Amino acid sequence: MKAEEILKQVADEAAVCTKCALQHSRKKAVPGEGPANAEIMFIGEGPGFYENEQGRPFVGQAGKFLEELLAGIGLKREQVFIGNVVKCRPPSNRDPLPDELAACSDYLERQIQAINPRVIVTLGRFSMARFLPNAKISDVHGQSYQVKGRTIVPMFHPAAALHQPSLRPMVEKDFKRLPELIAHASPAAEPREEKDNAVKPEPKQLSLF
Ligand code: URA
Ligand code: SF4
Repeated sequence: MKAEEILKQVADEAAVCTKCALQHSRKKAVPGEGPANAEIMFIGEGPGFYENEQGRPFVGQAGKFLEELLAGIGLKREQVFIGNVVKCRPPSNRDPLPDELAACSDYLERQIQAINPRVIVTLGRFSMARFLPNAKISDVHGQSYQVKGRTIVPMFHPAAALHQPSLRPMVEKDFKRLPELIAHASPAAEPREEKDNAVKPEPKQLSLF
């Protein structure tokens, strides 16, 4: 099946999905959007209020900031794929629960396989934890890691920088490194061996996003 078809199938399934309790707080599922051949995939946490209304990712304040960050490196949101680890809005924007993350995981996996991006940028701790389970964002942000043949760049969630303005220069600096990290990432595609050759950061407690 072509990548576009897989993305459409995932979106259609998420729209009526009953695999976890977040189905009850869903108005519109937010499967994610962007070109099926995107070189970069941004993965956030989950839909908030506006995303749930519109069925589109990152359309609120955090999205506005994400668009500014993209513009800073000459990219428009239409050029990248933007998605989330859970496709339905957690009630009152609470954190997604482990069983919800697990239930929704297959959709994201299918999207990653279909798009096969050169670089995956994780935004926030739930997205980072999927690839770098023991990482601490303050140690690893803005650096690239090889995880199961994929290049992962963990970054602070844009909402974190909005809540804590002191993070903003760091987030901007991390974004500025992206073009170089993309240029150096091995062309996506290659074998996704199951072998985990991740550079594993020290296990530490996560504190923020
Ligand atoms: N925050 C996220 O993590 N995802 C969205 O889609 C919007 C805000
Ligand atoms: Fe299904 Fe994911 Fe929505 Fe849960 S969050 S109902 S698993 S699409």
